Amino acid sequence: MSLITCPECKKGVSDTASVCPKCGFQFTTEKMGELKAKSKKGKTLKIIIGILVLFFIIGYFASKTGGPSGSSGSGGMTMAMFEQIQNGMTEDQVFAIVGQKGTASSEGSGVKILTYEGSGDIGANALVTFQGGKVVNKAQANLK
Ligand SMILES: [Zn+2]
Repeated sequence: MSLITCPECKKGVSDTASVCPKCGFQFTTEKMGELKAKSKKGKTLKIIIGILVLFFIIGYFASKTGGPSGSSGSGGMTMAMFEQIQNGMTEDQVFAIVGQKGTASSEGSGVKILTYEGSGDIGANALVTFQGGKVVNKAQANLK
């Protein structure tokens, strides 16, 4: 059983009723079919809007996170930035050069390896190893 809207009083009426219990409006089979089609259309529209909203939300979060790593080509670490990183620098000093906080890929016993997204080809990145908060090693792949 579903509800349809009475064209007279705009109240919800069971689709099995032949007369509106509120105002006495007589539903012909024809009228009933028309009203059912209308309520079905409304439901479809709601589902479509729901899907659009969902896509909008997904798109919003996808753009916030910056999409797949290294595909942007801008904002990542360049070769010039990489060359400025020197042993003994702190994480903050590296951040000042690169403009991004690295992703910790390994951490323990005073050693921390940070991965920085590189600009250039997909998969371009740089690894900087910190020991006691200071750079002790660095490596890069495909930086430009
Ligand atoms: Zn009615």
